[in-house]
Amino acid sequence: SLDVAALEAWVREFARSVAEHKDELTELDSAIGDADHGANMDRGMSAAVAAIEASPPADPAALLKQVGMTLVSKVGGASGPLYGTFFLRMAGALGPDPADDETFARALRAGLDGVVARGKAEPGDKTMLDALAPACDALDAALAEGRPLGAALTAAAAAAGAGRDATVPLVARKGRASYLGERSAGHQDPGATSTALLLDAAVTALS
Ligand code: ADP
Ligand code: MG
Ligand code: MG
Repeated sequence: SLDVAALEAWVREFARSVAEHKDELTELDSAIGDADHGANMDRGMSAAVAAIEASPPADPAALLKQVGMTLVSKVGGASGPLYGTFFLRMAGALGPDPADDETFARALRAGLDGVVARGKAEPGDKTMLDALAPACDALDAALAEGRPLGAALTAAAAAAGAGRDATVPLVARKGRASYLGERSAGHQDPGATSTALLLDAAVTALS
C-alpha cells in the first residue's frame, strides 16, 4: 500500500524530473504559449519539496494538500491552479490512511475531475487532460484485470505518453495556445508533456 513516504517519493521524483526537463517544457511553451511552463512547474515543485521539508506531513492527504496549496500560491498562470487543484482533489480522496491500489486510482481520477471542473476543458482540447484522462482509464483497466500496481502504473504512463504525443496535430481550444487557433497545430502541448512526466514519476517511485 502507498503510505506517506511512498507518495513523498513520488512528489520528489516529479520535482526532480520537472527540473531535468525544465528547458524542454519552456521550449514547447515558447512555440504555442508564453515560454514559461518549465519555469512555472520547476518553481512550483521546488517550493512544494521545500514546504514538505520545512513541515513534514503526517499522512498522504496532508502531503498532497501541502503540494496543492503550494502550487496554487506559488505558480501564476494556468498550470498553478490546475495542478494545484489536481493535488488538492487527490488529497481529498485519499484521507489519512495508506492508500491501497484502487484508492490511489480513485484519487488520481478525483484529481482529473478537479482539473476538468476548474479548467472546463475536455480530452481533445490539447491540454494536460490529453495525458491525464487516458492515464486514469489505463490505470483503472489494468487494476480491474488484476494486474499489480507496478504493471498498472506502467500502462498508465504509456497511455499518458501516447496522449501527449497525440496532442501534436490538435488545434488548442483552451488556454493561451487557443489564441493561435489553427497555428497551434503541429506542436506538442507543454502541459500534456509535464503530466506524462508525473505518470513516469509514479512508475519510478511507486512500483
Ligand atoms: P500559462 O499558459 O498561463 O502560461 P503554463 O504555461 O504554465 O501556464 O501552462 C500551460 C498549460 O496549461 C498548457 O500547455 C495546457 O496543457 C494547460 N492548460 C491551459 N488551460 C487549460 C485548461 N483550461 N484545462 C486544462 N489544462 C489547461
Ligand atoms: Mg505558459
Ligand atoms: Mg504564463
